[in-house]
Amino acid sequence: MANIVLSRIEKSFSQERVLKGIDLEIRDGEFLTLVGPSGCGKSTLLRIIAGLEAQNSGSVRIGERLVDGVRASDRDLAMVFQSYALYPHLTVKENMMTPLRLRDLSVAQRLPMLGRFLPGAAGKLKTMSQAVAETAEVLKIEPLLARKPGQLSGGQRQRAALGRAMVRRPVAFLMDEPLSNLDAALRVHMRTELSDLHRRLASTFIYVTHDQAEALTMSTRMAVMMGGEILQLDTPSRIYADPANRRVAEFVGSPK
Ligand code: ADP
Ligand code: MG
Repeated sequence: MANIVLSRIEKSFSQERVLKGIDLEIRDGEFLTLVGPSGCGKSTLLRIIAGLEAQNSGSVRIGERLVDGVRASDRDLAMVFQSYALYPHLTVKENMMTPLRLRDLSVAQRLPMLGRFLPGAAGKLKTMSQAVAETAEVLKIEPLLARKPGQLSGGQRQRAALGRAMVRRPVAFLMDEPLSNLDAALRVHMRTELSDLHRRLASTFIYVTHDQAEALTMSTRMAVMMGGEILQLDTPSRIYADPANRRVAEFVGSPK
């Protein structure tokens, strides 16, 4: 397993400096939240880690690997968005199998010589079904596998989307405000679910939110971002007890 290290990440959109030299080391297996007000650059930073956006300067290392220029699909990360982005015409099971099929396809396309040595189609389908079944068990969504997204509640859809991200067994999960489309009660319930899931998977979670309560309850550590900079990185309790400055104190609602 691998830690993820960001060094001097800078990013501008036209004249606007959105990220001003971010240094951040994400530890293997931690639940790290990137928290800060809307527009401070959280999504941009997450997209750079994911490989969906290129930084202007600085580097991203995943484990031993420098991934600058490596495309998103080759970074072994799973990205969960706030919109569920499930295919409406496919069942949950078929949705969960899609990334596995895509991966096989892209390997075969890029390395045509390898295609001959890939295991037979029937065997491969069985392995995919197994991966989906195991993931469904962890998420407790076995009863939903035959349904289509239109037949699911918001929380169930969120779990199915998470399932689709999980079947590839990524090095880390990147989540951008994944609960923001849910109603308040379900959002609070899903916090506990995500914390449990993180414990069971023992995988790295990088979680973006503008909701300080969400960050305070779920994270191992939180990085408080403002104006394209990380102002403080520490455990929620230490940040709350000893905020680095007044802006951080106000944001997390600390009495200091
Ligand atoms: P956050 O996720 O913290 O709300 P973002 O990373 O989405 O913030 O955006 C940070 C700033 O960068 C905002 O001012 C936003 O308008 C700008 N921005 C983000 N993406 C783009 C883009 N593709 N083109 C131009 N400006 C962008
Ligand atoms: Mg955002």
